Amino acid sequence: MKSHPSKERTLVILKPDAIQRALMGEIVARYERLGLKLVGLKMVVPTAEQIEGHYTLDPNWRRVTGEKTIKSYKDRNLAPPSEDPLEITAKILKNLKKYMTAGPVITMVWEGAHAVELVRKITGGTEPRSSPVGTIRGDFVVDSYTMSDADDRAVRNLIHASGSVGEADMEIPYWFKQDELVDYKVSREDILYEKELRGILP
Ligand code: GDP
Ligand code: MG
Repeated sequence: MKSHPSKERTLVILKPDAIQRALMGEIVARYERLGLKLVGLKMVVPTAEQIEGHYTLDPNWRRVTGEKTIKSYKDRNLAPPSEDPLEITAKILKNLKKYMTAGPVITMVWEGAHAVELVRKITGGTEPRSSPVGTIRGDFVVDSYTMSDADDRAVRNLIHASGSVGEADMEIPYWFKQDELVDYKVSREDILYEKELRGILP
């Protein structure tokens, strides 16, 4: 049976900079106030192998991210460091491994209607500099591709969030065992989803 659309789940990782900058409460508060429900949470210090596995769950990720990065250089009238998407991604992956293993991260699963899309919306785009005001990355990060490229490092953007429902379906079981995810109800779900608005008046 297909589950109700209010049960959509997405994976969020608070990257090492989010923990170090004491922004975890702020970030959790934003997803909570949207109306999403936290159904899984843990702190881990990832290994380089775990990070590589995470980013390459989708066998197309290397090619797609390489192509996207080449396009982003060309859109800025800059020459990409290579015309080979896989060469670009190898460099990105090396830098991501260094960044993501630098300290503890917090992995979380959030559940609710349009969880994947709405978490991406309030998180902002990959590059904090061009993320709109009001998004987490737009409000709390000064970093940019100009900065990260100058120092040959990953862009520090606080958060990973699944990019699509398909990605979430691969990433959630990668980080969480079935029994580490909790099925429960919070009372605010009545006003968010309950069809008949029952239970408000006596
Ligand atoms: P996300 O889903 O928003 O994290 O972005 P992607 O999954 O597309 O990319 C993963 C990582 O690759 C990002 O966090 C960046 O570190 C890096 N990356 C992606 N696109 C670009 C780009 O255009 N330029 C550079 N320098 N790095 C990029
Ligand atoms: Mg991604």
